[in-house]
Amino acid sequence: MDNGYKPELHDENAGIPALRPESPDETSAPDPAANSSARRLDAFAAAETSDPAANGSTRHLNAFAPAETSDPAAKVRKARSGHARTTKKKSPPKARWTHYVPQILLALLALCALSGALRIWLAERSGDSAYAAGHGGATTGSAIPQTGAAASSGTGSGANDSGSLGGDRVAGSQIGSDGSFLAGTDIPGAGPGPGPSQSPGNSGPAQGESATTLNIDTPETAAAAGLAATALRDAALLAAGYDYDGAIALLNETPGISGTVEVRAKIEEYEQIKTTLVRVNPVTVTHVFFHSLVMDNALAFDGDSREKGYNQVMTTKSEFMKIIQSMYDRGYVLVRLHDLAYEVKDADGGVSFKGGDVMLPPGKTAFVMSQDDVCYYDYMKGDGFATRMVVGDDGKPTCEMELADGSVVTGAYDLVPLLEEFIESHPDFSYRGARAVIAFTGYEGILGYRTATSYSDSPTYASDRKEAARVAQALRDAGWELASHSWGHLNMGAISYEKFKTDTDKWESEVESLIGPTDIILFPFGSDIGDWKPYTHENERYDYLYRQGFRYFCNVDSSVNWVQLGKDSYRQGRRNLDGYRMYYDIIQPDLTKRKTEDLFHAEDVFDPDRPTPVPPM
Ligand SMILES: [Zn+2]
Repeated sequence: MDNGYKPELHDENAGIPALRPESPDETSAPDPAANSSARRLDAFAAAETSDPAANGSTRHLNAFAPAETSDPAAKVRKARSGHARTTKKKSPPKARWTHYVPQILLALLALCALSGALRIWLAERSGDSAYAAGHGGATTGSAIPQTGAAASSGTGSGANDSGSLGGDRVAGSQIGSDGSFLAGTDIPGAGPGPGPSQSPGNSGPAQGESATTLNIDTPETAAAAGLAATALRDAALLAAGYDYDGAIALLNETPGISGTVEVRAKIEEYEQIKTTLVRVNPVTVTHVFFHSLVMDNALAFDGDSREKGYNQVMTTKSEFMKIIQSMYDRGYVLVRLHDLAYEVKDADGGVSFKGGDVMLPPGKTAFVMSQDDVCYYDYMKGDGFATRMVVGDDGKPTCEMELADGSVVTGAYDLVPLLEEFIESHPDFSYRGARAVIAFTGYEGILGYRTATSYSDSPTYASDRKEAARVAQALRDAGWELASHSWGHLNMGAISYEKFKTDTDKWESEVESLIGPTDIILFPFGSDIGDWKPYTHENERYDYLYRQGFRYFCNVDSSVNWVQLGKDSYRQGRRNLDGYRMYYDIIQPDLTKRKTEDLFHAEDVFDPDRPTPVPPM
């Protein structure tokens, strides 16, 4: 079986998409300048879309060589068979009624404290100071030395304490009671739950009972209303992310609220929307990808040897924001690769791949997003990019960027935090918490940390690996999917089989050991390990990657969609949304021939800071 990539192959087979090159990118002659003077630029992919014949082993020799001599892979390689690692379908975080147990307890506690305080107040008024003193000691959890403290702590923790949010924080944003999204605010009333508390009302001395004359209807109603409001807000956030089942379950299962008119109306509304949902066909989903975003155009487009590559294959921040705004406006919804298809166990113990059941309202279109080479390579320093990813104060992944004066700033300096911010204010841009796929090579390290073994003499090697692992976990926790982009940024179809295996093993030992099990590979240079025909295990490269646990295989293809749902894997083409693609769309007057018109209008997006013409690949 010939596993070679055939750039000249075109689709002449009805119903089966061709794996064809990014014309004219992959068929054009390699640019000699790019291979000589801009040697480091090739590493970032000088282009995912460049001539595969020119890449292979030679273009990355520079990057590949340093660690080629040692093979730590053998030490760390996991002994796993093809079936040992099953694909895990990640479920988005769901708010269940059980999440409200702490709130319910708090509400009860507040009620008790309120009634207790009032009783104390009443008792004191009636001169029964013995009750007041005895009662204070009976309350579990917090000492209530005097009446005033009891009242304030009781009401404070029960209703809307926005202090520590424990595990009930919902995605960092909430929906106002009118359904509007309030970015950057916390879900109230979700403080850490107290342990089982003694109710003052039950444990109080008998003489206290006789003093109870207060009407507790008011606080009880207020607490129930507070619970309902919180549940409605959380349900609205789930529904905004198309998890109507989760929203309905939350409202149905939160005790004491399902009878209210407002809650019943919402449940009915969500049930009604559910009847209108349309299943996404997993083989018609488009996939767009980016590299590190240019944050400072003046530094990236400064006329140095790397400008050309940046101009071709990078996207600026302003372009990225306009692209996702346009896609949002046109009804696109980000989904996970793992939502589109996943491995299932058959009754006979075997496994097969099943298309997912992504359900969206009519008019919405699913898409997948990925970002390659999220490594912040050395060659990018000083060129206007982030320098590394870090875990922010809120526990979410964000970026650091070193400025020209050497100072370091933290914030939304690349795709990950920018997309997080966008989804926070547009939760309906993400299907059930979906985020993009983030892909890493290994030859320098990942996420801006120098984690490759060639850096093992570095004083920061150990701390770099630890921090990179922490950021990777934060990415997973936030819904991002992590992927291989090969260790040495190699053309995985063109290199020798021995080199292919070595590279795969090195990626697993140096990168997967940091980020955890991964089943997605995004091939560099838009290469592939096979032609347009579906993979079979006779293809030794496919078989090897499969046995290493990979199930999702992505090349580069400018078609709106290029998908194969195989018997045991999912294969998808990806579309580069970069300077090259947009520029050549803009000079294409026939809109029907453009490659991006379904997503945005290139003229509206293209950054005027770019030097033009953008050089051809
Ligand atoms: Zn790449």
